[in-house]
Amino acid sequence: MRIAIIGYGTGGQAAAVALSREGHRVEVFEQAPAPGPVGAGFLLQPTGLSALWRMGLLDDVLRHGAPIERLFGESHRGHAVMDMRYRDLDARLFGVGVQRGALFALLDAAWTEQRALHAGRRIVAIDPDAGTVRDEAGETHGAFDLVVVADGAASRLRTTIAPPAFDRPYPWGAHWCLVPERDWPFVDELRQRYVGARRMVGMLPVGTLQKKLMRRVATLRKCGPKRPTRCATRRCPRVSRSRVIAMPCNIVGTAAAPCCWATVRMR
Ligand SMILES: Cc1cc2nc3c(=O)[nH]c(=O)nc-3n(C[C@H](O)[C@H](O)[C@H](O)COP(=O)(O)OP(=O)(O)OC[C@H]3O[C@@H](n4cnc5c(N)ncnc54)[C@H](O)[C@@H]3O)c2cc1C
Repeated sequence: MRIAIIGYGTGGQAAAVALSREGHRVEVFEQAPAPGPVGAGFLLQPTGLSALWRMGLLDDVLRHGAPIERLFGESHRGHAVMDMRYRDLDARLFGVGVQRGALFALLDAAWTEQRALHAGRRIVAIDPDAGTVRDEAGETHGAFDLVVVADGAASRLRTTIAPPAFDRPYPWGAHWCLVPERDWPFVDELRQRYVGARRMVGMLPVGTLQKKLMRRVATLRKCGPKRPTRCATRRCPRVSRSRVIAMPCNIVGTAAAPCCWATVRMR
């Protein structure tokens, strides 16, 4: 089949690898001029690991990622809110923390068969009857036998094909960055801390990038939708290569955070 995939995020990348390997002619349309990872770290759950295993990529992921055995969350007052261990479900299960850059590079390198990636092409319309897609420059591509819409949670194309049962914009924002693991004590745990249900800071061991040996920890701060402009340019302090998702959120202090979390505290 001739297949178009719209979006080269994790979903689009995995679809490109899997469908190409089955002998289909795949073309990917990605709006970013230079496709790459967005975000710091990712917790791969057993279902995602199983998909990577089917693609023959699990060993590479395990080589660079950090095995996660426990998901632990507590209130800012130190009360445990979530405490789950994969082994309580099944002794064979575990998660893996990976750097988003590592996962992107792995999937990108795995797409070798008849690679056709059209970067800087934002698709604005799909014609399901004709099997074509149109980019914002007005160029029409196709016809395709199948169009895979993998343009993410904020998809604008989904509704053009079928009205979704539920599609509400996610109002929360997040700050994120990677910091060296150093003597972080919870090397096989996702740790989260909450103030109510609206504010959260989390730390996830994410291992190394393919060509770099320093193990890192990804930090994530979830913030509410108030005061959108104030935090759009905030970065995690004391981290040279920190990056920020410019999403609406408010700045909150984590006064009750223990000292080992101080490296990610926002000022
Ligand atoms: C802060 C945060 C933390 C998360 N942590 C985890 C986690 O630990 N574990 C986990 O499993 N999930 C996590 N998620 C969810 C996970 O990131 C998403 O489910 C996953 O990235 C979705 O992948 P995707 O390929 O569907 O979409 P995306 O990764 O969003 O990719 C969509 C791609 O489509 C492109 N695109 C969009 N519109 C167009 C268009 N019109 N034309 C062409 N290209 C287009 C975009 O540029 C992008 O490259 C997290 C999400 C967030 C926000």
